[in-house]
Amino acid sequence: MDESNKKLIKILDICIRIDAQAFSFYSKIEKSCTDAVFKAFWKSMAEEEKDHVLFWKSAYKLAERDLLPNVFEDLSATQQKFEKILAKSCELIKNVKDLSNPSEILTIAYRLEFYMLNPEFATMFHIFRTLRGVENMEGKYEIHVNEFIQGLMKYGEKIPDAEMLGDTLQSLWVDNKRLARENTLDLLTGILNRRGFFNAVNPMLHLAHRKKFKIAIMIADIDHFKTVNDTYGHQKGDEVLKYVAGIIDSTVRKSDISGRYGGEEFIIYADCRDLASEKAVAEKIRENIEIKTEDALGIKVTVSIGVASAFISGSVEKDMAELIGKADRNLYRAKAEGRNRVVN
Ligand code: GH3
Ligand code: MG
Ligand code: MG
Repeated sequence: MDESNKKLIKILDICIRIDAQAFSFYSKIEKSCTDAVFKAFWKSMAEEEKDHVLFWKSAYKLAERDLLPNVFEDLSATQQKFEKILAKSCELIKNVKDLSNPSEILTIAYRLEFYMLNPEFATMFHIFRTLRGVENMEGKYEIHVNEFIQGLMKYGEKIPDAEMLGDTLQSLWVDNKRLARENTLDLLTGILNRRGFFNAVNPMLHLAHRKKFKIAIMIADIDHFKTVNDTYGHQKGDEVLKYVAGIIDSTVRKSDISGRYGGEEFIIYADCRDLASEKAVAEKIRENIEIKTEDALGIKVTVSIGVASAFISGSVEKDMAELIGKADRNLYRAKAEGRNRVVN
């Protein structure tokens, strides 16, 4: 298992723990509640948290089998952020003094829900919603947020600013949903980022599965890019990245999908129908980059490309993960065999 998958598993483990904590907190409130209406409200909040835990657990299981696309560009940063959220919510819950004080418990619940309205969570709900074996959480989470807001209103005059708090949560959730959808472009190069790529490719994979056509994945990595940065500076390096991304995007067909996979790595999905040879496409990309970059920027830049193609015959996620793994191994071979070449 590679490092990034291990980190993703760690992230999902933190998600499980955050929601498990919320579950136990809401359950405790429910038990100490005497008013039937409020009791029912906390019961339902707790049940929903339990549902969230199950959702994270099913994603965790897929990740363990290496079947989950990594949606984060910076896994370590995300992990750190989530660890902080876990620590903060743990601290909040630990310090509760009076479970029967509506103002105190609602303030804490509000903060827990507020933490969960982090764009990263919305992104996972959004991306994982198409995976088999994982429940579609996006819609359910919306219900959860709205229910909480209504709960705040029910408590009404018991806590000051209930309406304002409710409005804040509501608008955060709406913003997050929009971000999760729109935040799919890489700002530097203007092409799809990793998340955007998987978002766009996912329906294509299901189509390829249904219609039984072959697809190809190519991973292109700039050769000795560190040397480009070291020799010409980081800014020039950025310019090269933009230029290379542009060449890739204009070389592949409109029906194909390309994205920035990581630092100086690009990923391309190609539909193999009406395609004589995926290797020829990769070769064209390699050649264009070698020739055009030198002409335009005065720097000789080359890429190595690993190609893999297959029919999607089994599980879409599993087949895609295997294709990426194979393209990655071929890229490694292209590097080992001397760079500036295509291996399939
Ligand atoms: P190889 O041929 O084996 O791929 O060598 P390499 O130097 O390309 O590979 P390595 O992984 O050692 O270095 C990748 C470099 O890409 C290091 C990193 O600083 C640089 N890089 C990653 N993202 C960016 C970016 O957004 N802008 C710039 N300028 N450089 C970046
Ligand atoms: Mg690299
Ligand atoms: Mg490189």
